[in-house]
Amino acid sequence: MEDYEIVIGLEVHVELLTQSKMFCGCSTKFGQPPNTQVCPVCMGMPGVLPVINLKAIELALKAAIAFHSEISPYCRFARKNYFYPDLPKNYQISQYEQPIATGGYIEVDGKKIRLKRVHLEEDAGKLIHSEKGENFSFVDFNRSGIPLLEIVSEPDINSPEEAEKYLLTLKQILEYLEISDCNMEEGSLRCDANISVRKKGENRLGVKTEVKNMNSFKSVRKALTFEGRRQINLLKKGEEIIQETRLWNENLQITEGMRSKEEAHDYRYFPEPDLVPVEINAEWIEKVKETIGELPSERKERFMRDYNLSDYDATLLTSKKEIGDYFEKCVKKFNKPKIVANWIMGDLMAILKEKKIKINNSPMTPDYLVELLTLIEEKKITGTIGKEVLVDVFETGKSPSEIVKEKNLIQIQDEDFISKVIEEVVKENPQPVEDYKKGKEKAIGFLIGQVMKKTKGKANPQIVRELLIEHLKKI
Ligand SMILES: [Zn+2]
Repeated sequence: MEDYEIVIGLEVHVELLTQSKMFCGCSTKFGQPPNTQVCPVCMGMPGVLPVINLKAIELALKAAIAFHSEISPYCRFARKNYFYPDLPKNYQISQYEQPIATGGYIEVDGKKIRLKRVHLEEDAGKLIHSEKGENFSFVDFNRSGIPLLEIVSEPDINSPEEAEKYLLTLKQILEYLEISDCNMEEGSLRCDANISVRKKGENRLGVKTEVKNMNSFKSVRKALTFEGRRQINLLKKGEEIIQETRLWNENLQITEGMRSKEEAHDYRYFPEPDLVPVEINAEWIEKVKETIGELPSERKERFMRDYNLSDYDATLLTSKKEIGDYFEKCVKKFNKPKIVANWIMGDLMAILKEKKIKINNSPMTPDYLVELLTLIEEKKITGTIGKEVLVDVFETGKSPSEIVKEKNLIQIQDEDFISKVIEEVVKENPQPVEDYKKGKEKAIGFLIGQVMKKTKGKANPQIVRELLIEHLKKI
């Protein structure tokens, strides 16, 4: 394996976050009953005329700017002709010779993965195959005509892991700029891969295969790992690699060749006669540029600089726009970034993950977290109690202050009360006391723990420590 190098290029399709379809006014809402969001245009009826959705062009421009691509002053749509039951017009409106943008790159771990092109097209309908073994399929045209952005990379990717990282970075940019929700389960991000292998140091590319049917980022990585190994093994045996399309079989965890007949395409592209070319002038590009907020990489650097966070913390907090937004809302009112970061990345994330809730739907709102952290900061409750309160907020939806009041969780600072508990603990645990007296410093931790247990975590741990040391000196 070590003598070989894997070369991968990715072709990603994302559905754009427009309200209406690419060439008609039908809604793009996901999950509606089949064929309820259709009209003569997206059903491909004779005589209808498409109208370009400007919002889709603007989202494509946003993406092109974020990818550092060169935007074409004129872009043109083309007909890609082929027959398939989910394509009522028998052609897909796409872009061929004059895509909206060419070139550019996406930076992954400091390496620039170059892009070949970025273009707009419309989605096809969806075939739903009967599961009862009947000999027919259903067609749902709700998806037909939804705007798609196709992003084609150069073969600059050198491992399945890098391919996965590229996809994660791409997704992050598109989510940040609200270009696509990139939801792979709902099909709003799809990815095909071209993969070949060659001996290390060789310049010429090997024969490639195209791998399709990967339904998650993880399956992209697995499929490419399998396919890379398969190709290397063939070369080692002196066999040839056949240029073909292969499908990833998730159940068997292998790629399988498609019958070559099925992929013999000749699309006969020609300019779409019903649409005039779109002129994209500098003024328009400038206007779109103004709508682009901070990119994920810029935000990460700002978090490190302004909040003095580590690379690791900043990476996690900016991994999703919502997490970064949540963090900043908290820090605005509670100016201790590291403490806020630790609570978000630790206990909050754990419970959100467990309950499968997104951070922007969290019952623990930024205001509530600030309230909780303030209670701890002002020593009204202990950190341990704070963690319990967090869980309670998720259970009850009540505010941290309400919970603390109702459950009487206010921290115990009363030295007389704490001293009494210490006396009890010392009496009940002669062995650890003796150990401590003999110089086993660690034994004190156990004794503090016992006091905390007796006070249900409410005693101020610092006071407990001080009083305990004092008490042990006296006996
Ligand atoms: Zn329509």
